[in-house]
Amino acid sequence: MDFGLSTEQEALRDDVAHFIKENVTPAVMAELESSLEGGRGPNYDALMQKVSERGWVGISWPKEYGGQGGSRIDQYIVEEEFARVGIGVGGAGSGAPAILMAGTEEQKKEFLPGLLNGSIIFALGFTEPQAGADLAGLQCRAVRDGDDFVINGQKMYTSAAHYATHIYMMCRTDPEAPRHKGITILLVPMDTPGITVRPLWTIQNDPPAPVGTTYGMPRTNEVFFEDVRISVSTMLGEENQGWYVGAMGLNLDRVGASRYLISVRRDEDIINWVKENKVDGHSLADDPAIRDKLAELWIEAQVCRLMTLRSMSIVERDGNFTYEGAAEKVWAPEHGVRTTETISQILGPYAQLLNGSEEAIEDGLFAHNLMGSFQSGINHGSVQVMRDQMARRGLGLPRG
Ligand SMILES: Cc1cc2nc3c(=O)[nH]c(=O)nc-3n(C[C@H](O)[C@H](O)[C@H](O)COP(=O)(O)OP(=O)(O)OC[C@H]3O[C@@H](n4cnc5c(N)ncnc54)[C@H](O)[C@@H]3O)c2cc1C
Repeated sequence: MDFGLSTEQEALRDDVAHFIKENVTPAVMAELESSLEGGRGPNYDALMQKVSERGWVGISWPKEYGGQGGSRIDQYIVEEEFARVGIGVGGAGSGAPAILMAGTEEQKKEFLPGLLNGSIIFALGFTEPQAGADLAGLQCRAVRDGDDFVINGQKMYTSAAHYATHIYMMCRTDPEAPRHKGITILLVPMDTPGITVRPLWTIQNDPPAPVGTTYGMPRTNEVFFEDVRISVSTMLGEENQGWYVGAMGLNLDRVGASRYLISVRRDEDIINWVKENKVDGHSLADDPAIRDKLAELWIEAQVCRLMTLRSMSIVERDGNFTYEGAAEKVWAPEHGVRTTETISQILGPYAQLLNGSEEAIEDGLFAHNLMGSFQSGINHGSVQVMRDQMARRGLGLPRG
């Protein structure tokens, strides 16, 4: 088996790396720095326009919906290079794969090109105050009224809701049915009357995490729905089948490169810092214990990368994966925690100082990464729940 990239793929990687060198300017980075709540600036938008003109956005998506009809591996190569500078070019979240699989032709044409060019942004409206890991317990109600649904209830931890154009949400449409069978997915415009968004500030908010932080989002949200009336045409898939559509979207999103990509810049930042800095006059890179630790982490990152490539090739072949996405969703966040803990051990107490402190290292980047690494083990399916999926679907063990 050959794990290497083909000559064409290596050429693509070089091309992207060269483009980044030329086009990701300090002005772009400054805009990213000041736009952690999702707002963009003209330099960033111009960069994304160029990336799109190169055909590097949505490489693996079908051409008729704005993509390139190319391979996932090519898309991954582009995403990996951009991850090195902390820029995401692929992530349309779990809504896009769900629409590709279950959407009507009209929905595919309405949403997919916009999700690619950034004119449509989805917030993910799954979690509720009483339904997180136990998502099937969700209570937000959508009641059918002729050709409309009327939504009442609350969503929680709805990241991006304050700038999203739509919320891709799960609602309970049949309270009498077994829990998984009475849920429907709706694609609701955020400007529909009756929707209120309230900020939920995260641990990364004060002081705001610097660009490049793993899960540096300073804000997520609570979203309230009061008699929100929308057409049944906003329904994705069949009524009361939303659980299966949503789970499929989450699974496909998990096997994207997104989990591994989080570690690319974080791990390289640490290795570079160790190479370039001394503590008490001693080069950290010369210390055998540190070298050993970093080599171990690098190997872990390669395992993560290979798991990602394997999942992508399964999806490309026939999409028949069962536990692989869950395994990635355990490995990648736990690798993140180990990496950020290791840098804390190497750098000692200074690694814990946040930006704003005179002694903070790299503007508090490592301290924010440490906090962020714990979040990534919870959101999008917690590592405990993922382990349960691996046990049942991968190992055939009985439900716990
Ligand atoms: C920063 C951030 C952003 C988020 N963004 C979004 C978003 O955009 N949209 C969205 O819908 N949600 C979002 N979430 C919510 C996230 O998906 C939930 O936090 C997650 O599903 C866990 O739910 P909970 O917080 O209610 O914890 P709980 O469900 O109360 O779980 C608490 C702990 O108990 C463990 N646990 C629970 N049940 C079991 C079990 N049966 N077996 C073993 N362990 C179990 C969990 O693994 C977890 O560690 C976000 C969360 C965070 C932290």
